[in-house]
Amino acid sequence: MPSAVPPIPGLRRYTRWDEIPDGLYTKTQLGSQGLKPGGEPVAQALYHGNCYAPLYLIGEAVAKRACTSAQRAALDRARALQYVCRRCGHQDHEPLGRGRWCDRCSVAAALFDLHDQAQQRARELVADPAAALLVVDVDPDALPTAQAVAVIGVRGRDVLYTAPAGEYGTPERSAVIDRLDALFADRCVVEEPDFTGPLSRFPDRLICQPNQSFQPGPDPVHPWAAPHSKVRPSVARIWAPWFGWTDRPSSTIPSIPSAWGDDVPLAWSRSLDLVADGRSMVDLLHRIADGSEPVWERAAWMVDGYGEPDLSWDRRRNGLGAAA
Ligand SMILES: [Zn+2]
Repeated sequence: MPSAVPPIPGLRRYTRWDEIPDGLYTKTQLGSQGLKPGGEPVAQALYHGNCYAPLYLIGEAVAKRACTSAQRAALDRARALQYVCRRCGHQDHEPLGRGRWCDRCSVAAALFDLHDQAQQRARELVADPAAALLVVDVDPDALPTAQAVAVIGVRGRDVLYTAPAGEYGTPERSAVIDRLDALFADRCVVEEPDFTGPLSRFPDRLICQPNQSFQPGPDPVHPWAAPHSKVRPSVARIWAPWFGWTDRPSSTIPSIPSAWGDDVPLAWSRSLDLVADGRSMVDLLHRIADGSEPVWERAAWMVDGYGEPDLSWDRRRNGLGAAA
């Protein structure tokens, strides 16, 4: 084992060779092509577990010695390629680096990747016999019959539990909380809302006093009520990236359209009948899983004319090649 070569401060570190983008090479790799670095390193790669090799842009590389015209031509071709988007062919004025996508295609590819991940998530949930959707409404202005709880199995669309929500602090509410504790002891819980939607439909409303907010602790007593997270997906957060809606043309953050009823309708029902609402959300997850749920006609990868981006490069980078 050679002695350690410490990393160069401030440069991006790659710990796997297959993560290194097109166009970045070590000195040794350049040397094998008759080249040597022509500029400062732009990143570094880990090798032997404790050594870092600087990485150089091939576009800046120069020939080690006077090159033949064939070498010259190969070098020119390699350089020229660094400026050409591999998706749309757009010629940029700067080397495109990572993945060789132009800005416009990078946005489309990032959004398409999220769209694709949303479908993977929906497929996992639909296939999981222990996944269940929890719908809650404790809107004090609603009819008492609409202040309720419903739990629907994601795979079988079966109603696992439904009950009136009861008032905070009453035995009726305590019984609902106990039942949910038992139901979700060994189940994956899916929630309806994300950061959008009426507060009265957040599950934590069941265990909080009216007008108080949920205080997450290291070990919450009712984990099903903790605000949504990566392990606790929400229907809203799966649907938004699938649909591909964004606030701004260059944004890569899909969100729920705020103006319901304008040109983008809500993809599930939000009514006074929680069982019907829950079923509509479970149906939505099934449609996303099988690909039949509509995608926004103005989703970035739909409108730019180059179709669905080929994510194979990104897949390699993230080690997700086998996930599809
Ligand atoms: Zn492009």
